[in-house]
Amino acid sequence: MDKFTCPLKKIYPQKKKRAEYIIDSLEKIYPDTACGLHFENDPFRLLVMARLSAQCTDKRVNTVSAELFSKFPDAKSMSEAPVEEIENLVRSCGVYRMKAKNIKDMSKIIYEKYNSAVPCDMELLLELPGVGRKIANLIRGDVFGIGGIVADTHCIRISHRWGLTTKPDPLTTERELSRLIPPEKQSDFCHRVVDFGREYCSARGAKCDSCPLVNQNNQ
Ligand code: SF4
Repeated sequence: MDKFTCPLKKIYPQKKKRAEYIIDSLEKIYPDTACGLHFENDPFRLLVMARLSAQCTDKRVNTVSAELFSKFPDAKSMSEAPVEEIENLVRSCGVYRMKAKNIKDMSKIIYEKYNSAVPCDMELLLELPGVGRKIANLIRGDVFGIGGIVADTHCIRISHRWGLTTKPDPLTTERELSRLIPPEKQSDFCHRVVDFGREYCSARGAKCDSCPLVNQNNQ
C-alpha cells in the first residue's frame, strides 16, 4: 500500500483538469525529455534494448548495448549469433539467459518474417518473444509516433498517487491514462513521468515540500 497522498488531488479535484495541469507542468519542467535508452533512431535497437532493460538500469543497458550492437548490428546478424555469445554480452543486465534467448528468437522473426523491419501493429509486436504491452507501447510511441502509454514502475506508481488511475497495475494504468492523455502526448508524457519520478516522487520517498507541481515558484 502506497503511503503517499498527493496534495494535487485536493488542489485539482476534477480528474481531467488535474491531468491537464500535470501534462502542462511536466512539459515546462522537462522540455527536452527523451527515452533513456540510446537507440540511435533504430527500431530494432530499441526493441532489443527494451527487452534488456527489464530489472536493469538504462545506463547499464546503454553500456552493454554498445558492444552488443558493434558485434551484431542488425536482426540478421543477431539471429545468426550463437546464443552463448549473446548471453556473455548481456550477462550484467540480469536474467541474461532468458533475455539472450528472447533477443535471438525475436531477431529471427524480424529478419525472416518482416524482412528486418520492426512491425508497428500491437498484435504483431506482442507475438515477438519477450515483448509485452510496455515494450510494444514504447516502440509504437517512440518509433512510429502512434502514441502509447508505457506503464513502467514510475508511471504506475505516480499516476496512482496523482489519482489518475483507480488501481496501480499495468493494464489499468495504460487503459485509464490513454483516456486522459492525447495520443500525440502520451510518449513524451511517460518519459517525463520517469524523469519526475527519479527526481521528486520515487518509490521510497516523495519530496512534496520541494515538488514543482505543488510549489509553482520552483518551476
Ligand atoms: S512529490 Fe509531488 S507529485 Fe509526488 S506525491 Fe508529493 S506533491 Fe504529489
